[in-house]
Amino acid sequence: ISAHLALARLEAALPPGSVRIVTQNVDDLHERAGSRAVWHMHGELARARCASCGAGWPAPAEMRVADACPSCGVAATRPDIVWFGEMPYRMEEIWEALRAADLFVSIGTSGSVYPAAAFVQDAARAGAETLELNLEPSEIARDFDRGLHGPASEIVPVWVEEYLGARR
Ligand SMILES: [Zn+2]
Repeated sequence: ISAHLALARLEAALPPGSVRIVTQNVDDLHERAGSRAVWHMHGELARARCASCGAGWPAPAEMRVADACPSCGVAATRPDIVWFGEMPYRMEEIWEALRAADLFVSIGTSGSVYPAAAFVQDAARAGAETLELNLEPSEIARDFDRGLHGPASEIVPVWVEEYLGARR
């Protein structure tokens, strides 16, 4: 959680809109740590979605397929989670953000799951500096300009302090 708190601190310390967190995690740890600009590529455990019209709403404690959609009324409720083989959410916006980024930081990813594994190349092609923060060099470590390796709980706060310190 110290890594999540550090990223929230980074967002709070920079001008609004400077930080965008794109996560494959379906939990709400980033939000609970205080991050605002979070996109969940693979959906959110805390949300339900209508398989008929696409509407989303906060998940009830118990969710049934037979629950009626609050928007269209069809009984097609499902968890708001992207299953294997489905297109991750917000891909167009993510690619746009990658093209606009000055710095792309990958945190705790194996580098073996696409399309996320290609984000570093998308960002680098558009001119971004790239940094990998991971327990050990990932399968795609050579695609990054720089890498810091160790537990996220240690290296993410260290990097955030270094980054903010260099701007002061
Ligand atoms: Zn619906």
